[in-house]
Amino acid sequence: MGFLHKAFLLLFILSLATLPCFVFCRKSHGRRRLFQNLQPLEGSRLGETVTGLHKLKHYLARFGYLANAHIATGPGEDDHFDDHLESALKLYQTTFSLNVSGVVDAATLDLMMEPRCGVPDFFNGSVPGIGPRWAILPGRPKWPADKQSHLKWGWLQPNFPFYFAEPSVIFAIQKWAYVTGFFFIEVPFEQHKGADIKVGFFKGAHGDYESFDGPEGILAHAMFPTSAFVHFDIEENWSVYKSDDSVDFISIALHELGHALGLAHSKVKEAVMYPKFGYGEQKRELTQDDIDGIKNLYP
Ligand SMILES: [Zn+2]
Ligand SMILES: [Zn+2]
Repeated sequence: MGFLHKAFLLLFILSLATLPCFVFCRKSHGRRRLFQNLQPLEGSRLGETVTGLHKLKHYLARFGYLANAHIATGPGEDDHFDDHLESALKLYQTTFSLNVSGVVDAATLDLMMEPRCGVPDFFNGSVPGIGPRWAILPGRPKWPADKQSHLKWGWLQPNFPFYFAEPSVIFAIQKWAYVTGFFFIEVPFEQHKGADIKVGFFKGAHGDYESFDGPEGILAHAMFPTSAFVHFDIEENWSVYKSDDSVDFISIALHELGHALGLAHSKVKEAVMYPKFGYGEQKRELTQDDIDGIKNLYP
């Protein structure tokens, strides 16, 4: 597909996005909250033993708040609320500007059950980056200067399932290119093994650090430079039309590409790099926080 053809397709799709939802939206899939098995834990606090508390430990470990060493392995799950769990919960509450009670309160549970990016918020128990808002990883993984003039990206599958996927990723790439000065080159599927950023749709377990989980829960995830990839959960109700029953593909592509360039999660709720993302939400423009973060990495 030539550049002009792609540009026209993108313009066409973006113009469709302004039409009323009833024209295009798929039937509601019925809201379900993936992490709702945490709900019975409301009110749990230090010193208590509560059936199912190990699920909270696994949740906090999954996103980098609790070291795996503090979760019992093997038969018999650990349902005791210890000091490590309280510290992890307080870190979670601090990160998301909740009341730092160390108690599993309703507001904390509500936020935990929201759809989100699968990339952890913290790595190896340490706070990534130096910014109090935007963040980068310890060691500052980034693309070397010689890559920035020709960063290659390509699809992992020859036929992606949504017609809007390619122009949406190109739209998101252009947003990052504008603020970094990077020059991105799309390689054809036959050459995707040579791409620096490999992009694709997957379902369930697909051979990397995290399995996808169907609608809501984890929406997508990515890997940082220089072994970057961007994976989308094929089972989400993706769309480029604003609707409470779909998740905005362009917004998530913009977020995941931020990881592929080296950004971690931001604490700023309005930022593209904030880890939570609700159905019906749209974030298609980089905020000052996102720009400050990427410019710190690529001055
Ligand atoms: Zn993310
Ligand atoms: Zn993946």
